[in-house]
Amino acid sequence: MISFNVPPFTGREIEYIKDCVESRKICGDGKYTKKCNEWIEKKTGAAKCLLTTSCTHATEMAALLSGIKEGDEVIMPSYTFVSTADAFVLRGAKAVFVDIRPDTMNIDETKIEAAITEKTKAIVPVHYAGVGCEMDTIMDIAERHGLKVIEDAAQGIMSKYKGKSLGAIGDLGCFSFHETKNYSMGEGGAIVFKTPELVEEAEIIREKGTDRSRFFRGQVDKYTWVNYGSSYLPSDMNAAYLYAQLELADEINEARMKVWNTYYNGLRDLAEAGKIDLPVVPEGCEHNAHMFYIKTKDMEERTKLISFLKDNGICSVFHYIPLHTSPAGKKFGRFNGEDVYTTRESERLTRLPMYYKLTEEDNMYIISKVKEFYGFS
Ligand SMILES: *Cc1c(COP(=O)(O)O)cnc(C)c1O
Repeated sequence: MISFNVPPFTGREIEYIKDCVESRKICGDGKYTKKCNEWIEKKTGAAKCLLTTSCTHATEMAALLSGIKEGDEVIMPSYTFVSTADAFVLRGAKAVFVDIRPDTMNIDETKIEAAITEKTKAIVPVHYAGVGCEMDTIMDIAERHGLKVIEDAAQGIMSKYKGKSLGAIGDLGCFSFHETKNYSMGEGGAIVFKTPELVEEAEIIREKGTDRSRFFRGQVDKYTWVNYGSSYLPSDMNAAYLYAQLELADEINEARMKVWNTYYNGLRDLAEAGKIDLPVVPEGCEHNAHMFYIKTKDMEERTKLISFLKDNGICSVFHYIPLHTSPAGKKFGRFNGEDVYTTRESERLTRLPMYYKLTEEDNMYIISKVKEFYGFS
């Protein structure tokens, strides 16, 4: 069976974890965490990066740092992972869902403004498949209405929009290093800051509401409880695993791009014949081959395709069930405007196996089976 995903492993992970273990430095904010933070800062151009225990937690921090409270509204797509909404709903805010664009599956920037009320505090664009949202428009809307922009860049490390790194365009950006993402630490993530303004407060929230970070820098002579907070810093052993991959990020990215391009070129004639739709990467967007999906005619055809691929030893999977149709989505959110594309497009989408080290042979085999399903050869 060809797996849908295999977590990345480059070879140095064990050496770096062993280093943590042998030097008895396994808690948070050690050597490898610092290396990862610096790597991400350099890569994205963010003023600061703080590694976190997950992207969900990074987004929770973003919600706290943005002062989101009971009764506030936060605009986001419905076609996303639950964490995008959870982080704000936890603070008592309402998730206001806006339709997506059918080409990129990203929030439709032209429908955001109509969803803004006097309660709106933030816009949360999700860069689906590592393809950037229309950030110029989104930043302009946010500026005119005095809203924060928190990027859910869980899938977007290494990707760019008009030359700028995803995650570092909005006020705050959140990355995921879950094992399903391009670079992994098992469970983990990061929050990045466009400007240094909120960094000190973030360090406190991340360290249980204490000024421990200042203490370690020698800025205060003891540390104490100064604000509310939680524990959002990962063990340095997890960071060690991640760093082994960040060091080889370009190589991993190239390998993924090769798989993505092979799929794209191999399935092009199916798309030209009108059988399927392929992903769209708008001009100005540089993606990271996080995902390769195709769109079938409808859900019925998708079910048949997934089952046909399974019978041929290939694991393909569909993706998000729109949040506004879920029990929690109904309770904690509302859909603004009409759901033209969110449900329809989500029901057509299937993701094909995509991971670092997917072999060319498997890649070609999957393409041939998709074609066979449509009677193409
Ligand atoms: C993976 C993902 C998350 C959650 O990441 P975790 O690190 O598992 O918390 C959030 N949003 C999107 C869009 C994701 O793809």
